[in-house]
Amino acid sequence: MRLNVTIRFYEELNDFIKEELRKKQIETSFYGKRTVKDLIESYGVPHGEVDLILINGESVGFDYIVNDKDLISVYPVFERFNINGLSKLRQSSLRETKFILDVHLGKLAKYLRLLGFDTIYDHEMDDPELALISNKNKRILLTRDKGLLMRRLVERGLFIRNNDPYKQCLEVLEKLDLWDTIHPFSRCMVCNQEIEKIEINTPKYKLIETLIPPKVKEWCTVYNYCSNCHKIYWKGSHWNRMNIFLDKLIEDKNR
Ligand SMILES: [Zn+2]
Repeated sequence: MRLNVTIRFYEELNDFIKEELRKKQIETSFYGKRTVKDLIESYGVPHGEVDLILINGESVGFDYIVNDKDLISVYPVFERFNINGLSKLRQSSLRETKFILDVHLGKLAKYLRLLGFDTIYDHEMDDPELALISNKNKRILLTRDKGLLMRRLVERGLFIRNNDPYKQCLEVLEKLDLWDTIHPFSRCMVCNQEIEKIEINTPKYKLIETLIPPKVKEWCTVYNYCSNCHKIYWKGSHWNRMNIFLDKLIEDKNR
């Protein structure tokens, strides 16, 4: 039997589909049994970007088998308008924000760690590994590769539109509405471990003292220390540059 259905994609999901189909009811027909996930991805929209599917006004899961005359509405993961009361595709909140980044987003990884977000990045990871860790650790996968977001295991993903790392950082903060959750200088930019604050003349200070350049020791009294990779941070020129970066971010917020 030939099935006739209507499907509509909302907000930024339209970026993935052909221009002539954007922001309108798409009439389509096909033969045979088909899941709504399969139908959605046939338009080029990765399921990892989808958070809510309504069929004739009722929310359904990805494995829903499409019926004749279904009216299908597909909403993105980070859509901000109120969809409370409807059952979204994921039980837990996306607000517990942890990331895993695709191999080409190294600079963005550093920025996100600087802002305090738990961010896995390893330039040697391949696509299956990225998808698996994203799924197992419930990490939001950030990538500029739509194919990666279409992998079966990816439940949370965000396609990064910008090329420039600074703009990418702004894009992530805006899209996921993370401005209130940033904790600058709380995480190691090299290895992602949370760092601890160590003051001089404490037992812990004795353990790191030999790692500090003598010139810095002359004036600095508080250090941030990563016990994983043993990197030490202090309020020197690097710290100043990072502060300029943070100020610029805040300035560009909502611009
Ligand atoms: Zn570290």
